[in-house]
Amino acid sequence: MTEPSPSTPFPKAVTRLPRWLARWMEPWLRKLPAVRRELEAQFRQVAETLRQTLHPYEGDPAMPAFSRLPPQGLPEERVLALLEDLARREAPRWQEGYASGAVYHGDPAWVRFLNRAYGLHSQSNPLHPDLWPSAAKFEEEIVAMVARMAGAEAAIRQDPQARICGNVTSGGTESILMAVKTYRDWARATRGITQPEMVLPESAHPAFDKAAHYFGVRAMRVPVGPDYRADVDAMRRAMTPNTILLVGSAPGFPHGVIDPIPQLAALARERGIGFHTDACLGGFILPWAEDLGYPVPPWDFRVPGVTSISIDTHKYGYAPKGTSVVLYRSPELRRYQYFTATDWPGGLYASATIAGSRSGGLLAAAWAALVRMGEAGYREAARRILETAQALRQGIEAIPELRVLGDPLWVIAFASDQVDIYRVLDAMSRRGWSLNGLQRPPAIHIAVTLRHTLPGVTERFLRDLKDAVDEVKTRPPSEEGLAPIYGMADSLPFRGIVDDMLRLYLDVLVPPLPRPDASEADPGKSD
Ligand SMILES: *Cc1c(COP(=O)(O)O)cnc(C)c1O
Repeated sequence: MTEPSPSTPFPKAVTRLPRWLARWMEPWLRKLPAVRRELEAQFRQVAETLRQTLHPYEGDPAMPAFSRLPPQGLPEERVLALLEDLARREAPRWQEGYASGAVYHGDPAWVRFLNRAYGLHSQSNPLHPDLWPSAAKFEEEIVAMVARMAGAEAAIRQDPQARICGNVTSGGTESILMAVKTYRDWARATRGITQPEMVLPESAHPAFDKAAHYFGVRAMRVPVGPDYRADVDAMRRAMTPNTILLVGSAPGFPHGVIDPIPQLAALARERGIGFHTDACLGGFILPWAEDLGYPVPPWDFRVPGVTSISIDTHKYGYAPKGTSVVLYRSPELRRYQYFTATDWPGGLYASATIAGSRSGGLLAAAWAALVRMGEAGYREAARRILETAQALRQGIEAIPELRVLGDPLWVIAFASDQVDIYRVLDAMSRRGWSLNGLQRPPAIHIAVTLRHTLPGVTERFLRDLKDAVDEVKTRPPSEEGLAPIYGMADSLPFRGIVDDMLRLYLDVLVPPLPRPDASEADPGKSD
């Protein structure tokens, strides 16, 4: 384990407190005036660090800020020039492959193509199928194409009951929200379960906790095994008569490893409850990885107990952000996803997913991405990504201070027993990289995309990573960067403080309006 960063404001002994004790102590501790003062000071400092990193345009004379409507609208060219300036400043990092995930395709010609598809249908709203029947056509076909990639055909042959169906949502989170809501309502209607629970590995995406939080389902998180995959026996032990759903990921976001879906789905099937495969990250890679001969364990509808799957078109489907697909084994199950209002004076109302009005432009662009890529396009993209990832993995494994976690295919997590990995993360950030910091254990990951398959990116990453590790080994830690915050968040047993810090982050990201103060005369409003 990495020792907490030296600048962590809490004594090391605190980090060794058992969590249950910390949970019990925390409210009392936080009432002590000295602790409160210290925390407030720490939060002020964290807020300042965050403000500087999150708002680089603040105070930039070339970039006007609009805290109120301009009295007269700006000329069109002026508005577009501002947008172009911002895009130009931000493009190099993601275009040149400095980001983990984030932009999955990103070739300029591809982006232009998607933008044209979006532009042609930007006014369309699928809530009005009389005006835009094309939107329903796009959604039906996106669902069908994605379902066939997820083993729908074989499943229909194996299981006469199977009739795969689904909807397009705004993203992986909404796909997962919809699935959890569906099982909640299904279990209430068919089993009379009013205190629903779901069992999921610790590595499953927080969208499941969000769903639990929104929909009143209890999420039972189960530690993963030493290979970072779901622990089937532990998940079995966590099941109760109130369990409505088991979850596995293909692969999980943190370590990029695929859970033992057949074993987990069999458990769910024995009990007659739902099983959701979260293939948000893997749905557009695994089918082609399998074709290409990579070892891909079963994850899709060919596994009998799998009753729903989420797959993100806006990740490795190379569609623009704002689309994902949620699939179900049967339309009877999907009906529990729907919402209807029968008595509204505004008319009869029905919607399949969370949104009311939606963007038909995004449906058009996602449809365009699928039809333009085709099987061959996705297979070739997967081949390039998987080969690049193997080279990256070998390069990381060759750095003696680092070790790769688990046995990943293209999302590669690595940790260190010798250096503070969060300082390595900061050192990589200073070199332009935007990687993901993980916790429990502290680690970094890179999700390999087509941006990393460009010539020279792998070499640059490995060179920078070696330099970063050397720098951390030879230089004393500085107060700068996010390493102390990450270190504290990983090791601090007082999770309420970490929770407050995350809320602070959201506050700083989109701050409240400033209060007018005396030193800053507010023309027209001051008194
Ligand atoms: C990205 C991701 C999600 C959530 O997707 P969003 O599109 O960010 O809402 C869920 N599960 C996994 C495994 C993911 O990688």
